[in-house]
Amino acid sequence: MTNDPYKILGVEKTASEADIKKAYRAAAKKHHPDKGGNAEEFKKINEAYEILGDSKKRANYDQFGSAGNAGSQGFGGGGFHTSGFDTSGFDFGGDMGDIFSSFFGGGSTAGHGGRMNMRGSDLEVEVVLDFEDAMRGVIKKFSSTQFISCEACKGEGGSGQKKCSTCSGSGRVSRQTRTPFGVIQQQGICPDCEGTGKTFDSKCSECSGEGRVRKSKKITIHIPEGVQTGETLRVRGDGEAGRKGGESGDLFVHIRVKDSRTFERRGMDLLSELKLSPWEAMLGGMFPVETFWGKVKVEVLECTKDGTLMKIKGKGVKRSGRQGDHLVRIVYDMPKKLSKKEREALEGIK
Ligand SMILES: [Zn+2]
Ligand SMILES: [Zn+2]
Repeated sequence: MTNDPYKILGVEKTASEADIKKAYRAAAKKHHPDKGGNAEEFKKINEAYEILGDSKKRANYDQFGSAGNAGSQGFGGGGFHTSGFDTSGFDFGGDMGDIFSSFFGGGSTAGHGGRMNMRGSDLEVEVVLDFEDAMRGVIKKFSSTQFISCEACKGEGGSGQKKCSTCSGSGRVSRQTRTPFGVIQQQGICPDCEGTGKTFDSKCSECSGEGRVRKSKKITIHIPEGVQTGETLRVRGDGEAGRKGGESGDLFVHIRVKDSRTFERRGMDLLSELKLSPWEAMLGGMFPVETFWGKVKVEVLECTKDGTLMKIKGKGVKRSGRQGDHLVRIVYDMPKKLSKKEREALEGIK
Protein backbone atom coordinates (compact mmCIF):
# COMPACT_ATOMS: atom_id res chain seq x y z
CA MET A 1 0.00 0.00 0.00
CA THR A 2 1.19 3.45 -0.82
CA ASN A 3 1.83 6.13 1.79
CA ASP A 4 1.52 8.99 -0.66
CA PRO A 5 -1.56 10.94 0.40
CA TYR A 6 -2.04 12.18 -3.17
CA LYS A 7 -2.16 8.60 -4.45
CA ILE A 8 -4.42 7.51 -1.58
CA LEU A 9 -6.96 10.17 -2.47
CA GLY A 10 -6.32 9.77 -6.19
CA VAL A 11 -5.58 13.44 -6.89
CA GLU A 12 -2.80 15.27 -8.73
CA LYS A 13 -0.08 17.15 -6.86
CA THR A 14 -1.59 20.30 -8.35
CA ALA A 15 -5.14 19.58 -7.15
CA SER A 16 -7.11 22.46 -5.67
CA GLU A 17 -8.42 22.46 -2.13
CA ALA A 18 -11.93 21.89 -3.45
CA ASP A 19 -10.81 18.92 -5.56
CA ILE A 20 -9.06 17.37 -2.59
CA LYS A 21 -12.12 17.80 -0.42
CA LYS A 22 -14.32 16.31 -3.10
CA ALA A 23 -12.00 13.34 -3.65
CA TYR A 24 -11.80 12.80 0.08
CA ARG A 25 -15.53 12.81 0.58
CA ALA A 26 -16.07 10.39 -2.25
CA ALA A 27 -13.37 8.05 -0.92
CA ALA A 28 -14.52 8.33 2.69
CA LYS A 29 -18.08 7.59 1.70
CA LYS A 30 -17.00 4.59 -0.33
CA HIS A 31 -14.80 3.10 2.38
CA HIS A 32 -16.77 4.10 5.46
CA PRO A 33 -16.79 1.08 7.82
CA ASP A 34 -20.44 1.72 8.64
CA LYS A 35 -21.15 1.15 4.98
CA GLY A 36 -19.18 -2.08 4.85
CA GLY A 37 -15.88 -0.48 3.84
CA ASN A 38 -12.42 -1.49 4.95
CA ALA A 39 -11.47 0.19 8.25
CA GLU A 40 -7.75 0.30 7.38
CA GLU A 41 -8.46 1.90 4.04
CA PHE A 42 -10.79 4.40 5.70
CA LYS A 43 -8.11 5.29 8.23
CA LYS A 44 -5.55 5.84 5.49
CA ILE A 45 -7.96 8.09 3.63
CA ASN A 46 -8.53 10.14 6.74
CA GLU A 47 -4.83 10.36 7.44
CA ALA A 48 -4.20 11.45 3.87
CA TYR A 49 -6.84 14.13 4.18
CA GLU A 50 -5.41 15.30 7.49
CA ILE A 51 -2.33 16.21 5.51
CA LEU A 52 -3.76 17.44 2.22
CA GLY A 53 -6.74 19.16 3.78
CA ASP A 54 -4.50 21.42 5.83
CA SER A 55 -2.52 23.89 3.73
CA LYS A 56 0.42 24.02 6.17
CA LYS A 57 0.72 20.26 6.48
CA ARG A 58 0.33 19.91 2.75
CA ALA A 59 3.12 22.40 2.09
CA ASN A 60 5.30 20.56 4.59
CA TYR A 61 4.58 17.28 2.92
CA ASP A 62 5.34 18.68 -0.51
CA GLN A 63 8.65 20.02 0.73
CA PHE A 64 9.82 17.35 3.15
CA GLY A 65 7.76 14.31 2.39
CA SER A 66 6.15 14.45 5.80
CA ALA A 67 3.37 16.56 7.14
CA GLY A 68 4.56 17.79 10.46
CA ASN A 69 7.60 18.81 12.44
CA ALA A 70 9.37 16.74 15.04
CA GLY A 71 8.06 13.45 13.82
CA SER A 72 4.43 14.16 14.45
CA GLN A 73 2.99 12.83 11.23
CA GLY A 74 -0.07 14.96 11.27
CA PHE A 75 -2.20 12.17 12.58
CA GLY A 76 -1.75 11.64 16.26
CA GLY A 77 -0.68 15.19 16.88
CA GLY A 78 -4.00 16.68 15.97
CA GLY A 79 -6.03 13.78 17.10
CA PHE A 80 -8.29 12.21 14.57
CA HIS A 81 -10.18 9.50 16.30
CA THR A 82 -13.27 7.92 14.97
CA SER A 83 -13.79 5.90 18.12
CA GLY A 84 -16.45 7.39 20.26
CA PHE A 85 -18.03 9.25 17.42
CA ASP A 86 -21.43 7.79 17.04
CA THR A 87 -22.59 7.95 13.48
CA SER A 88 -25.76 5.97 14.02
CA GLY A 89 -28.80 7.97 13.16
CA PHE A 90 -26.97 9.96 10.55
CA ASP A 91 -27.65 9.33 6.95
CA PHE A 92 -24.45 8.85 5.05
CA GLY A 93 -26.27 8.61 1.76
CA GLY A 94 -26.81 12.33 1.37
CA ASP A 95 -24.58 15.31 1.76
CA MET A 96 -21.84 14.57 4.21
CA GLY A 97 -20.91 18.18 4.71
CA ASP A 98 -22.21 18.63 8.20
CA ILE A 99 -20.75 15.50 9.63
CA PHE A 100 -17.37 16.17 8.19
CA SER A 101 -17.26 19.74 9.25
CA SER A 102 -17.75 18.47 12.77
CA PHE A 103 -14.93 15.97 12.26
CA PHE A 104 -12.50 18.63 11.26
CA GLY A 105 -13.94 21.85 12.50
CA GLY A 106 -12.63 21.47 16.00
CA GLY A 107 -15.97 20.37 17.37
CA SER A 108 -16.13 18.30 20.48
CA THR A 109 -16.70 15.16 18.46
CA ALA A 110 -13.23 14.79 17.07
CA GLY A 111 -11.37 14.47 20.32
CA HIS A 112 -9.45 17.67 19.90
CA GLY A 113 -6.84 18.69 22.37
CA GLY A 114 -5.71 15.09 22.71
CA ARG A 115 -8.67 13.73 24.63
CA MET A 116 -10.87 10.92 23.58
CA ASN A 117 -14.33 11.98 22.68
CA MET A 118 -16.38 11.87 25.87
CA ARG A 119 -19.40 13.75 24.62
CA GLY A 120 -22.70 11.91 24.52
CA SER A 121 -24.38 11.25 21.21
CA ASP A 122 -27.03 13.55 19.83
CA LEU A 123 -30.47 12.05 19.58
CA GLU A 124 -33.28 12.74 17.16
CA VAL A 125 -36.99 12.43 17.54
CA GLU A 126 -39.94 13.27 15.32
CA VAL A 127 -42.93 14.97 16.92
CA VAL A 128 -46.24 15.01 15.09
CA LEU A 129 -48.47 17.93 16.08
CA ASP A 130 -52.08 18.82 15.46
CA PHE A 131 -52.50 22.05 13.55
CA GLU A 132 -53.99 23.68 16.64
CA ASP A 133 -50.99 22.75 18.85
CA ALA A 134 -48.52 23.93 16.25
CA MET A 135 -50.32 27.29 16.06
CA ARG A 136 -50.53 27.87 19.80
CA GLY A 137 -47.38 26.08 20.99
CA VAL A 138 -47.49 23.05 23.24
CA ILE A 139 -45.56 21.10 25.85
CA LYS A 140 -44.79 17.53 24.82
CA LYS A 141 -43.62 14.90 27.27
CA PHE A 142 -42.24 11.48 26.47
CA SER A 143 -39.72 9.04 27.79
CA SER A 144 -36.61 7.89 26.05
CA THR A 145 -34.26 5.03 26.90
CA GLN A 146 -30.81 6.49 26.68
CA PHE A 147 -27.57 7.06 28.52
CA ILE A 148 -28.01 9.25 31.55
CA SER A 149 -25.38 10.38 34.02
CA CYS A 150 -24.63 7.74 36.70
CA GLU A 151 -26.00 8.88 40.05
CA ALA A 152 -23.72 6.66 42.12
CA CYS A 153 -20.52 8.36 40.96
CA LYS A 154 -22.03 11.65 39.77
CA GLY A 155 -20.92 10.80 36.28
CA GLU A 156 -17.23 10.65 37.19
CA GLY A 157 -16.82 6.91 36.73
CA GLY A 158 -15.23 6.15 40.08
CA SER A 159 -13.94 7.43 43.37
CA GLY A 160 -10.52 8.30 44.70
CA GLN A 161 -9.30 10.23 41.71
CA LYS A 162 -5.54 10.18 41.11
CA LYS A 163 -3.01 11.00 38.47
CA CYS A 164 -2.73 8.39 35.72
CA SER A 165 0.53 6.50 36.17
CA THR A 166 0.82 5.44 32.53
CA CYS A 167 1.08 8.98 31.19
CA SER A 168 2.00 10.79 34.43
CA GLY A 169 -1.16 12.83 34.10
CA SER A 170 -0.37 14.30 30.68
CA GLY A 171 -3.02 12.20 28.94
CA ARG A 172 -0.59 11.46 26.13
CA VAL A 173 1.85 8.71 25.37
CA SER A 174 4.42 8.52 22.61
CA ARG A 175 5.46 5.47 20.71
CA GLN A 176 7.91 4.76 17.90
CA THR A 177 6.77 3.29 14.65
CA ARG A 178 8.78 2.03 11.70
CA THR A 179 7.69 3.52 8.40
CA PRO A 180 9.23 3.65 4.91
CA PHE A 181 10.55 7.10 5.90
CA GLY A 182 12.37 5.71 8.90
CA VAL A 183 11.45 5.47 12.54
CA ILE A 184 9.03 8.14 13.59
CA GLN A 185 7.72 9.01 16.95
CA GLN A 186 3.98 9.31 17.22
CA GLN A 187 2.02 10.91 19.95
CA GLY A 188 -1.18 9.26 20.97
CA ILE A 189 -3.87 9.42 23.58
CA CYS A 190 -3.14 7.47 26.74
CA PRO A 191 -5.15 4.24 26.57
CA ASP A 192 -5.50 3.96 30.35
CA CYS A 193 -7.07 7.34 31.08
CA GLU A 194 -8.26 8.13 27.53
CA GLY A 195 -6.50 11.45 27.65
CA THR A 196 -8.04 12.75 30.86
CA GLY A 197 -4.81 12.27 32.81
CA LYS A 198 -6.78 10.85 35.73
CA THR A 199 -7.71 7.41 36.97
CA PHE A 200 -9.61 6.21 40.03
CA ASP A 201 -8.77 4.11 43.08
CA SER A 202 -12.02 2.26 42.61
CA LYS A 203 -14.17 2.10 39.55
CA CYS A 204 -17.87 2.75 40.01
CA SER A 205 -19.67 -0.59 39.97
CA GLU A 206 -23.00 0.90 38.89
CA CYS A 207 -21.68 2.08 35.57
CA SER A 208 -18.46 0.03 35.30
CA GLY A 209 -16.52 3.28 35.27
CA GLU A 210 -18.35 4.74 32.28
CA GLY A 211 -19.98 7.50 34.31
CA ARG A 212 -23.29 6.84 32.62
CA VAL A 213 -25.97 4.19 32.58
CA ARG A 214 -28.75 3.33 30.16
CA LYS A 215 -32.11 4.19 31.62
CA SER A 216 -35.47 5.61 30.79
CA LYS A 217 -35.45 9.39 30.89
CA LYS A 218 -38.47 11.67 30.95
CA ILE A 219 -38.11 14.45 28.43
CA THR A 220 -40.23 17.59 28.26
CA ILE A 221 -40.11 19.69 25.13
CA HIS A 222 -41.54 23.19 24.97
CA ILE A 223 -42.66 23.68 21.41
CA PRO A 224 -43.11 27.36 20.61
CA GLU A 225 -46.13 28.77 18.80
CA GLY A 226 -46.07 28.90 15.04
CA VAL A 227 -43.84 25.90 14.25
CA GLN A 228 -44.27 24.11 10.96
CA THR A 229 -43.34 20.89 9.19
CA GLY A 230 -39.66 20.63 8.36
CA GLU A 231 -38.43 22.61 11.33
CA THR A 232 -35.96 21.12 13.75
CA LEU A 233 -35.65 22.31 17.32
CA ARG A 234 -32.42 21.73 19.16
CA VAL A 235 -32.67 20.99 22.87
CA ARG A 236 -29.22 21.32 24.34
CA GLY A 237 -28.09 18.63 26.72
CA ASP A 238 -31.08 16.29 26.30
CA GLY A 239 -29.16 13.82 24.16
CA GLU A 240 -27.16 11.01 25.72
CA ALA A 241 -24.98 11.72 28.73
CA GLY A 242 -21.26 11.88 27.99
CA ARG A 243 -18.78 9.27 29.17
CA LYS A 244 -16.86 9.94 32.40
CA GLY A 245 -18.30 13.36 32.98
CA GLY A 246 -18.20 14.39 29.30
CA GLU A 247 -20.70 16.86 27.91
CA SER A 248 -24.17 15.57 27.06
CA GLY A 249 -25.31 15.43 23.47
CA ASP A 250 -28.26 17.43 22.17
CA LEU A 251 -31.75 16.35 21.24
CA PHE A 252 -32.96 17.30 17.78
CA VAL A 253 -36.73 17.49 17.51
CA HIS A 254 -38.07 17.24 13.97
CA ILE A 255 -41.50 18.81 13.65
CA ARG A 256 -44.33 17.49 11.51
CA VAL A 257 -47.67 19.28 11.57
CA LYS A 258 -50.91 17.64 10.46
CA ASP A 259 -52.92 19.52 7.85
CA SER A 260 -55.92 21.55 8.91
CA ARG A 261 -59.26 20.94 7.20
CA THR A 262 -60.03 24.66 7.23
CA PHE A 263 -56.76 26.49 6.84
CA GLU A 264 -53.86 26.29 4.49
CA ARG A 265 -50.61 27.69 5.81
CA ARG A 266 -48.48 29.93 3.61
CA GLY A 267 -45.46 31.05 5.57
CA MET A 268 -46.84 33.34 8.26
CA ASP A 269 -50.25 33.65 6.59
CA LEU A 270 -53.28 31.39 6.75
CA LEU A 271 -55.64 30.95 3.87
CA SER A 272 -59.27 29.86 3.76
CA GLU A 273 -62.12 29.99 1.26
CA LEU A 274 -65.34 31.96 1.45
CA LYS A 275 -67.96 30.27 -0.71
CA LEU A 276 -70.62 32.66 -2.05
CA SER A 277 -73.39 32.50 -4.59
CA PRO A 278 -72.75 34.50 -7.76
CA TRP A 279 -75.44 36.99 -6.64
CA GLU A 280 -73.79 37.51 -3.27
CA ALA A 281 -70.48 38.16 -5.00
CA MET A 282 -72.15 40.60 -7.41
CA LEU A 283 -74.05 42.48 -4.76
CA GLY A 284 -71.29 42.43 -2.13
CA GLY A 285 -71.94 42.92 1.59
CA MET A 286 -70.67 41.83 5.02
CA PHE A 287 -69.91 38.11 5.41
CA PRO A 288 -68.62 36.11 8.40
CA VAL A 289 -65.21 34.46 8.01
CA GLU A 290 -63.75 31.84 10.35
CA THR A 291 -60.12 32.68 11.15
CA PHE A 292 -57.94 30.54 13.41
CA TRP A 293 -58.36 33.14 16.14
CA GLY A 294 -62.15 33.42 15.82
CA LYS A 295 -64.93 34.67 13.57
CA VAL A 296 -64.68 38.10 11.92
CA LYS A 297 -66.91 39.96 9.45
CA VAL A 298 -65.43 41.05 6.17
CA GLU A 299 -66.79 43.38 3.57
CA VAL A 300 -67.00 41.93 0.08
CA LEU A 301 -67.18 44.70 -2.51
CA GLU A 302 -69.82 44.48 -5.24
CA CYS A 303 -68.82 42.68 -8.43
CA THR A 304 -66.02 40.75 -6.77
CA LYS A 305 -64.47 38.23 -9.17
CA ASP A 306 -64.25 34.53 -8.45
CA GLY A 307 -60.81 33.73 -6.95
CA THR A 308 -60.23 37.20 -5.48
CA LEU A 309 -57.95 37.17 -2.42
CA MET A 310 -58.82 39.44 0.50
CA LYS A 311 -56.53 40.14 3.40
CA ILE A 312 -57.61 40.23 7.05
CA LYS A 313 -54.70 41.86 8.81
CA GLY A 314 -53.10 40.17 11.79
CA LYS A 315 -55.12 36.98 11.97
CA GLY A 316 -52.39 34.67 10.71
CA VAL A 317 -49.60 32.65 12.36
CA LYS A 318 -48.03 34.02 15.55
CA ARG A 319 -44.32 33.56 15.94
CA SER A 320 -41.71 35.34 18.05
CA GLY A 321 -43.84 38.44 18.59
CA ARG A 322 -44.86 38.76 14.94
CA GLN A 323 -48.11 37.76 13.32
CA GLY A 324 -49.06 37.04 9.74
CA ASP A 325 -52.41 37.74 8.06
CA HIS A 326 -55.47 35.73 7.16
CA LEU A 327 -56.19 35.52 3.46
CA VAL A 328 -59.72 34.78 2.22
CA ARG A 329 -60.29 33.54 -1.28
CA ILE A 330 -63.75 34.37 -2.62
CA VAL A 331 -65.08 31.42 -4.61
CA TYR A 332 -68.35 30.90 -6.40
CA ASP A 333 -69.77 28.66 -9.08
CA MET A 334 -72.59 29.06 -11.53
CA PRO A 335 -75.71 27.40 -10.09
CA LYS A 336 -76.84 24.17 -11.80
CA LYS A 337 -80.21 25.74 -12.46
CA LEU A 338 -82.14 28.89 -11.56
CA SER A 339 -85.03 29.08 -9.13
CA LYS A 340 -88.20 30.74 -10.29
CA LYS A 341 -87.42 33.84 -8.21
CA GLU A 342 -83.88 34.09 -9.60
CA ARG A 343 -85.15 33.72 -13.15
CA GLU A 344 -87.74 36.48 -12.64
CA ALA A 345 -85.15 38.81 -11.08
CA LEU A 346 -82.72 38.28 -13.95
CA GLU A 347 -85.44 38.65 -16.60
CA GLY A 348 -86.23 41.98 -14.95
CA ILE A 349 -82.75 43.41 -15.66
CA LYS A 350 -82.23 41.98 -19.15
ZN1 LIG B 1 -21.08 5.35 38.20
ZN1 LIG C 1 -3.07 8.29 31.21
